[in-house]
Amino acid sequence: MIAIGAPEGVHPAVRRTAPDLADVATTAAAMLADDVVLVTRDEESRKVARSARLVLGPEHVGLLHVTAPVTAWAVVLSGLASGDLPASSASAVSEAVLARTTTRVLLSSVASLDRPAPTLRQHLGSYLPRTAFVVDPDRGTVGRFSGRLGIPDGGDLLVVARSGRAVVRGAESELLPREPDVDLGVPATSWRAARWMEVSTLDGAVCDVAAGALSARPEVCDACGRDASVTCVFCQVADRRARPQAPGRTTPVGPVPAELEGAVR
Ligand SMILES: [Zn+2]
Repeated sequence: MIAIGAPEGVHPAVRRTAPDLADVATTAAAMLADDVVLVTRDEESRKVARSARLVLGPEHVGLLHVTAPVTAWAVVLSGLASGDLPASSASAVSEAVLARTTTRVLLSSVASLDRPAPTLRQHLGSYLPRTAFVVDPDRGTVGRFSGRLGIPDGGDLLVVARSGRAVVRGAESELLPREPDVDLGVPATSWRAARWMEVSTLDGAVCDVAAGALSARPEVCDACGRDASVTCVFCQVADRRARPQAPGRTTPVGPVPAELEGAVR
C-alpha cells in the first residue's frame, strides 16, 4: 500500500509519497513483485494515482479513494497496515474501519464551512469573540461548543490533528479522553477556519476490525478472481450485490465511471 499525500505521523508501516507521479511510480515500481494499492483522499492525489496506474499497468496496481477527514483517513491507513492483509481486501477493510470511527472537529469559525452547512445564527456567531463550534462530519451536524467534544473513550486508536493555534483557551488535550496515539501535527485539511482541531477514534482494536471485515464478506471479484468484497480495487468493479444482474448472466466488465472508481464513501 502507498498512501499518496499522507501526512507524517501515520502508521509506520504505511509507505507515504508526495502527490507526484515520478515519486509514486518509483515507489510503486520497487514493490511491484506484489499487488500495490494506491490510497488517496484528495482529488490531486487521486489524479496522480490514476496516472501512475496507467504508467505501471493496471494488473497489479489498485486504487482506493477514501473520502474522509484526515484523522479518519489515518485510522483507515492503520487498519490497512495492520497485519498481513491481502491488497484486494483494501476496500472492505476501509469501509469496516470507517463504520466504527468517530470524528469530531472543533472550529473557531463556521463562516466558511459549507458541508455540513451551519445555520445563519451559527454563521453570524462565528464573528463573535471566543465562540467555537463542534462539527460531526458523519452525521453532518454543527453545534455550538459547550465544553466537550463528544469523542468516546475506550477507543483503540486516537488520532488528532490541529492548527498551530489552539481553538479554545486552556488545555485542548483536556477535551480528549486520553493521550492521543497519533498526532498528525498541522496537515493540509479542508477546514477553512483559522483555528481548528480534528480528532478521530476507532471503536475496538484495529486488527480485530480489519480481520472482521475479511471474515464477514467472502466474495470473489468476477473479473480477476481475487478475494474482493465491496469493490475490487484492481478492476474497479463494484460489489456484485450492488449491481443489477439478470439471472444466469455475468455482468460485462466495462469502463467504470470515474466517480465509482474505488470510492468508499
Ligand atoms: Zn478484480
